[in-house]
Amino acid sequence: MNKPHAPAETDLQRVPYQKPQPHDMRPDMVIHDAMGRVDPRVWVPLAEHVAVRPLQFNVTQGQYTHVMRVTKAGMIARHRHSGGVHAWVFKGRWHYLEHEWVAEEGSYIFEPPGETHTLVVPEGCTEMVTLFQVTGCLMYVDPQGGSTGYDDVFTRIDKARSHYTAVGLGAGFVEQFIR
Ligand code: FE
Repeated sequence: MNKPHAPAETDLQRVPYQKPQPHDMRPDMVIHDAMGRVDPRVWVPLAEHVAVRPLQFNVTQGQYTHVMRVTKAGMIARHRHSGGVHAWVFKGRWHYLEHEWVAEEGSYIFEPPGETHTLVVPEGCTEMVTLFQVTGCLMYVDPQGGSTGYDDVFTRIDKARSHYTAVGLGAGFVEQFIR
């Protein structure tokens, strides 16, 4: 039982944290329009019918998080991952040439470090939307694993910066996503 005048447990639960946050903590972020519906210019085109909406570029862990939208059946270049990937499908479906399974709306996928695969949006799927959190590098390769190029958080920042400059949002627009 509570003593007289002692604050009830439920009252303490509603008290905000009273101490300073860590001195070196980075600013938090909230993106209310994570789907990029308000201003379509936030979508960075990567190829015809392929665009990404950046959510975070993590330059201290070599990681980025974005929503990818593919609006036509087709393929994403074969690549090997140096780090792991978490994915969550919001709409449509896709699969890898290297696997039997099909990712569908509501699916969660983990791509392990070291895996090489080729993403396919199948015929009949006119819109695929998936959240990806990518750590490390996408190393683009030929079918035998020979390197043909790469992407990482820094090339993705460069692409976003170029796009935001071109569409009038300004080169500085990308800064809000960087931690
Ligand atoms: Fe991948």
